Amino acid sequence: MARPVFAQVNLAALRSNLALARAKAPRTQVLAIVKANAYGHGLMRVLPALDDADGLGLVELDAALRVREQHYSRRMLLLEGFFEERELAEIAAHRLATVVHHADQVRMLEHAKLARPLEVFVKVNTGMNRLGFAPADVAEVCARLSHAPSVAALRLMTHLARADEEDGVRDALAAFEMACNGLPYPRSIANSAGVFRAAEVGGDIVRPGIMLYGATPFAYDTAQMLGLAPVMTLRSELIATQALKAQDTVGYGAQYTAARPHRIGVVACGYADGYPRAAPNGTPVLVCGRRVRMVGRVSMDMITVDLSEVPEARIGSPVVLWGEGLPVDDVAAAAGTVGYELMCGVMPRVRFVTTEIGRVDLEL
Ligand SMILES: *Cc1c(COP(=O)(O)O)cnc(C)c1O
Repeated sequence: MARPVFAQVNLAALRSNLALARAKAPRTQVLAIVKANAYGHGLMRVLPALDDADGLGLVELDAALRVREQHYSRRMLLLEGFFEERELAEIAAHRLATVVHHADQVRMLEHAKLARPLEVFVKVNTGMNRLGFAPADVAEVCARLSHAPSVAALRLMTHLARADEEDGVRDALAAFEMACNGLPYPRSIANSAGVFRAAEVGGDIVRPGIMLYGATPFAYDTAQMLGLAPVMTLRSELIATQALKAQDTVGYGAQYTAARPHRIGVVACGYADGYPRAAPNGTPVLVCGRRVRMVGRVSMDMITVDLSEVPEARIGSPVVLWGEGLPVDDVAAAAGTVGYELMCGVMPRVRFVTTEIGRVDLEL
């Protein structure tokens, strides 16, 4: 038998989460964000579940070209734009849309002679201070691009730095409004957190990422509270058990000491599978459907769990590292990170299995 760790991707859950994004932001176009190999789920694997999106957003040109090879015909937006002028011919040939966020890109577009003009999203910096033009410069950039023969259509876009915080969007929206003042182009503002606040955030095109995969964009509202279903479940099995005596320690560095005699289980999943090495004693794991505590240090190929509460557990018992029954956000919080990083970090040696488990009921 093969090493038992695998990641299960539930396409029914992904469809349900996309339907929720649609329902939260009605009358807007939805660009499903699939950068980083669809947040680690496998872009080609999830593509069939994204039929209902108006298009895709990603940062990798090579991935966008692979999607076009699959005859995907809808809009695809390059979220960081292009890096060199010679990429523009390929972008035009494959009808990709591009972000433009700095003056060099404007110059390259003015310079380029393209077979087909492009849809361009002008990015406005509203406080994230990573990419984008200062609000005061946006009118001039749009004026220049609107005269460039290689530009077919303009959109205005920003990315919110604090859409997940109660009071986090007011200033950014005011800055965006100022930048867009009087410009007649469609607008794209909301990420997942913004989609849940669509009435306040507004815009014509939304860009949900993390919510599609069933994790929460918020610190306090859980995925379950939001009506999101987990898409990825990382599963494995117990491959050994040990009976500890009081004062026995577990694993490298003896990071856990048994206060009393109890059993532990050894799970075939470690940091070389993408389990976070920073996860401390007490990080939740499901064994036989029951929530137990991880004990001892995460090693390359294994973790160890306390079986005190699961007397029936034995070699071969099913384990969930995150996903169905154990939100990835709970594991991420214990490890001091976010669900995004855990899902993106599943390593190449982990097998993937695609399912369409049952019907996922959408509660609005
Ligand atoms: C990643 C990304 C998104 C999606 O963000 P989530 O928090 O995952 O919803 C939206 N817009 C841009 C520009 C992004 O880079």
